[in-house]
Amino acid sequence: MQSNDSVLRAITDDGAFRVIVARTTDTVQSVLSAQSAQGETGRHLGDLVTGSVLFRETMAPNLRVQGILKGLGGSGSLVADSHPSGKTRGLVQLSSGSTQVSVGPGAIMQMMRTLPDGKINQGFVEVPAGEGSISRALMEYMQTSEQVVSMLALGTVLEQDRVTAAGGYLVQLLPEVGRGPLMVMTERLKDFENIDAQLKDANFSPEALLEELLYGMAYTRLEESSVGFECWCNELRVVSAIATLPKQDIEHLLSSGEVLEIACEYCKREFRIPPARLQGLLNQS
Ligand SMILES: [Zn+2]
Repeated sequence: MQSNDSVLRAITDDGAFRVIVARTTDTVQSVLSAQSAQGETGRHLGDLVTGSVLFRETMAPNLRVQGILKGLGGSGSLVADSHPSGKTRGLVQLSSGSTQVSVGPGAIMQMMRTLPDGKINQGFVEVPAGEGSISRALMEYMQTSEQVVSMLALGTVLEQDRVTAAGGYLVQLLPEVGRGPLMVMTERLKDFENIDAQLKDANFSPEALLEELLYGMAYTRLEESSVGFECWCNELRVVSAIATLPKQDIEHLLSSGEVLEIACEYCKREFRIPPARLQGLLNQS
């Protein structure tokens, strides 16, 4: 996981707000290049990756988060996968004939979290119209599904299909929040609905954005953890996935007698599964 990216958490000393700030430039760049994602699709995937990282950080440790965006008109979907270790990966699934996953009103964002015992918790929200649609979809999701009022922004800055900056923040209202601090924060965050300018700054860091967001407020900086692009696929997972196929499909794969070459769709790593391994699956079933 080679990356200069990190997520930083803080809490205001009056107990009003919890703030999570992330730099995801390297992570998003690596995810986009592994997926050859460009243009609008790349920007949306970048936002979804950052949003999934921030969402995961709002929860208890050990939970894995997957954000899925189902594009309009069956154009395809985007997936962002954020592991508690900070490992992050993403996926573009284009339908045949489409070149971009189109996002707009009617597109659906689904957030899933996997508990350590394998149970899945999930919810959906419709993506709103206009600029920053992924940010606003996630904000609405937090409100409706998690019942936590949150203000947030995500940004992915692309220059000729290269990610020059990516990141975001999330401000959560805590039960202690008073009317005064809430008004101050709501007013202030109007200037941070789009954070592209902050992200493009040469001195951008989670620390710097945190200071700007909480300027003049007393706060305590909590833990900072790294995030980066890294897939957690391995041969066992690939073989386990094949094992779920119907028996005749496995027999069909075996019929050529050749080594089966399968690439991980997230990181494109190639796995070579020898026929004996597949035969073993058939014998087990
Ligand atoms: Zn992989």
